[in-house]
Amino acid sequence: MFVHKMNEEIYQRASKAIAGGSLSNFKKAKNSAPVYVKKAEGCHIYDYDDNLYYDFSLSAGPAILGHSNRAYQEALKAQIDKIYTNWDGMIQIEAAEKLQQIIPSAELVRFAVSGADAVFNAVRVARGYTGKNLYVKFKGQYHGGLDYILGGRTEKNEARTIDGIDSTDYYSDMCYTEGRARHALDDCLMIEWNDLAEMEALFQEEGNDIACVVMEPVPLNMSGCLPEPGYLEGVRELCSKYNVVLIFDETLTGFRMALGGAQEYFGVVPDLCVFAKAVGGGFPVAVYAGKREVMRVIADARVLAVGTYNGHPIAAAAILETIRQLEENDGESFRMIASHTEMAKCGMENAAKSLGIQMIVQGMPGALFPVFTKKEKIINHRDAIANADFSMHRRFMNLLKDRGILHNSRLVFSPMHTQQDIDYLIRMTKEALTVMASDKA
Ligand code: PMP
Repeated sequence: MFVHKMNEEIYQRASKAIAGGSLSNFKKAKNSAPVYVKKAEGCHIYDYDDNLYYDFSLSAGPAILGHSNRAYQEALKAQIDKIYTNWDGMIQIEAAEKLQQIIPSAELVRFAVSGADAVFNAVRVARGYTGKNLYVKFKGQYHGGLDYILGGRTEKNEARTIDGIDSTDYYSDMCYTEGRARHALDDCLMIEWNDLAEMEALFQEEGNDIACVVMEPVPLNMSGCLPEPGYLEGVRELCSKYNVVLIFDETLTGFRMALGGAQEYFGVVPDLCVFAKAVGGGFPVAVYAGKREVMRVIADARVLAVGTYNGHPIAAAAILETIRQLEENDGESFRMIASHTEMAKCGMENAAKSLGIQMIVQGMPGALFPVFTKKEKIINHRDAIANADFSMHRRFMNLLKDRGILHNSRLVFSPMHTQQDIDYLIRMTKEALTVMASDKA
């Protein structure tokens, strides 16, 4: 078992200067220390007690090239030597041109600093373009920590929003905050993922005032429920029919499932999209982009799109270097990501089967989410609440963490993971599930 002596001492020190001792409430459990990182290389992390962790969080997603990637460091240093203050320049144009080439919907591009920031801007562009007000999201999905996109209204005309902790709803934790503007979620309607009939009924009733639909095209924040065959195509058709802007939030799918994200992988092209996390390989940058006709509301100065650090030159250099490495050897990185994911999924599911534990591993190439259920798959929030055991999920993820697996409830994969890393994950899965089997005995 790990010793956490130094880590605890650092936590005490950090708590005197940093609220909560941590940089994000999601980076640690309540009243426990986060892992303070002394050294990070490839997909391995060392804390100040010299414990070795296997990183399947990748800094909550961005570190698609692993940590301390030499060529990435050199590219950023080279940009610092040229210019590191925030002016418009050639490097941002080059980054935007490259993004245009690789993201199917990206006819025009703008930069932001975080995923939440980019989603917020995309929704504003959609409202500006359509002149409509309401927006639609999906129960259990997550788009960032801002008032307007954290949760939503569960039923039309229903005052209750998903923004408080509901012990029967695992996903409600993510949306809870005090201090939110009272009417922040009035215009946000939430529906079930993978239920076209519900979306169509809502569009029939409210389509005249719905500006956009925002989705995680593979909801990794909601148990990795893949879109059912034909679902994305159906949503695309409905959005076109009702003049609703379709926004893919590719914060987790972009540069992971494929370079061009879920839209490239599934061949369904949204009107707007957001790329964040992996797009900068570890540097704080996000992108929102979309059809020329829609993004033109920015060019025409009808919609205000501003931010001092949007498109910072170092961020642009980070994007270009991340793409360069991921494109190398004819996209070998994505074949590696897919094969690591597949190996991990099979190994983890086999471990569960051999111990008689009902656990499946859902997800996409590049990211997985273990689900404790008797069913073969879980398709949406309603299904998960009825058929998945989240206390077992929490226990399992904690046991993995105790064994040095870093994660954010989901596990994400990089081409820099090695066979040894995947084997370790599978071995620790067996150990954790064995403990859980003995809990029950
Ligand atoms: N969208 C999705 C799908 C996310 O998973 C996240 C963060 N986990 C965000 C948006 C928000 O990104 P950020 O934390 O950079 O604001």
